[in-house]
Amino acid sequence: MRDSIHDELQQIRSRGLYRATRLIQGRQTARVTLEGGEVLLLCSNNYLGLAEHPALAEASVRAIRSFGASGGASRLVSGTMELHEQLESTVAAFKGTESALVFNSGYAANTGIIPALVGRGDVIFSDRLNHASIVDGALLSGARLVRYPHNDVNALARLMTKHRGSGRCLIVTDGVFSMDGDLAPLSALAELKHRHDALLMIDDAHGCGVLGAGGRGSAELLGVMEETDIHVGTLGKAMGSFGAYAAVSSEMRELLINRARSFIFSTSLPPAVLAASVAALEIVASPEGTGLRKRLCDNAVLFRQLLAGHGFAVGDSSTQIIPIMCGDAQVTMRFSEELLHEGVFVQGIRPPTVPANSCRLRCTVMATHSREDLTWAAGRIAAAGRRLGVV
Ligand SMILES: *Cc1c(COP(=O)(O)O)cnc(C)c1O
Repeated sequence: MRDSIHDELQQIRSRGLYRATRLIQGRQTARVTLEGGEVLLLCSNNYLGLAEHPALAEASVRAIRSFGASGGASRLVSGTMELHEQLESTVAAFKGTESALVFNSGYAANTGIIPALVGRGDVIFSDRLNHASIVDGALLSGARLVRYPHNDVNALARLMTKHRGSGRCLIVTDGVFSMDGDLAPLSALAELKHRHDALLMIDDAHGCGVLGAGGRGSAELLGVMEETDIHVGTLGKAMGSFGAYAAVSSEMRELLINRARSFIFSTSLPPAVLAASVAALEIVASPEGTGLRKRLCDNAVLFRQLLAGHGFAVGDSSTQIIPIMCGDAQVTMRFSEELLHEGVFVQGIRPPTVPANSCRLRCTVMATHSREDLTWAAGRIAAAGRRLGVV
């Protein structure tokens, strides 16, 4: 048995797909200490810098003093505390929905919500580039999974006509695609949802807090807040905290409470995390949040321009997620290693996170980067890219 595990690891290594964690010492700031050396952080989802915001840390400390360290049980047993309800009403007010339900993570949300809504006899239409947690939720559900070509609304329309059944029908998409930084065609999806009497679920892990005038995400930016049946968002990315939510109607919330197994069978989030999330949502909805979004957007525009100016292919990104397409896994990982030596920390992304031969460096820009940081980093990336023949 031990030999077979050793062999499997060897196989992962030989295909250039070996993964290991890397240690950040100290805080999650724009420059971090990575395994002893200072590097510019270009692969964090802490887009607005809220993970480091004193108001979040202060709220957490106060919550621990008042409510202790743990929820102590699952939500349906005795783990629902005042802060859970406060966070849910804050999310619902922020998103403009009747209600909201907090999940322990985005992964738990997607693997809980999808099987709660659909099962055998139902159909899920899922974008080919949707996040792994959506795919896992769809597989768990037992519903028929139809994956449509990325952002291809015409193909989806044909598939929906072809697979029209008697059961429920769910369209699910990332709002901002996590590895490409492009947006889903939400108004066309909303139209198809109406035409086929389907449910529309948007996983806005990378849009919430960031996109739209109020930071409500891709659905706000593209004008489909009302048409969306399930708004999923994470609290661990732009919100600088941890956990996730579904912003939904009151009846949908009741159904999720009764059916979502990741909600039912897991200990509730602890007070410190909930209080940080409430503080984050308050900042995101305030003028300070508007300012942070503006800085993030300006930084993303600048960085895309710099990379394109150096001749890189950055795909269809229109957000703070900016891929540098490299193709091969080995080249991608060498690229990332060389940049690290020069003080730029960007992760290479390989299968199974992205399709084979679309390996990339996934750069993410933060509001806390300075223009000098980004200009310098783009220069280092260009030099390394030329050495490796990527550009
Ligand atoms: C990160 C991510 C998730 C998972 O969220 P966590 O809170 O980190 O578990 C879900 N969906 C998408 C699109 C993501 O990028």
